[in-house]
Amino acid sequence: MHELSVAQNIIDIVKENVPDTDYKHVNKILLEVGEFSGIVADSLLYCFDVIKSDTDFLNTKMEIKKIPFILFCNSCKTETTNNAGIRMCNICGGYDTKIISGIDMKIIEVEVNT
Ligand SMILES: [Zn+2]
Repeated sequence: MHELSVAQNIIDIVKENVPDTDYKHVNKILLEVGEFSGIVADSLLYCFDVIKSDTDFLNTKMEIKKIPFILFCNSCKTETTNNAGIRMCNICGGYDTKIISGIDMKIIEVEVNT
């Protein structure tokens, strides 16, 4: 499952950024997951819970903030969206658009209890 390797990556990233002695004190990991990032939030939460049970992150909670897919259309200068995750403006049908959000995943916050 794709989300299993994503969950493992998240743990690896947290390990790189938190001192070893604090692993057990990581209270919360806050993520932003785009609507069209290819990651299923519920599945990621489930995988994280499975993986963490074998690690120092046993008591860490994962929270996911879902980010909508938003485009900016250069032709009609409007923020728009669509349900397909494609770069087409919903207003004028043009493809001269820039993706503002909704296609990636970010770790926003790692909360450590001291
Ligand atoms: Zn447009």
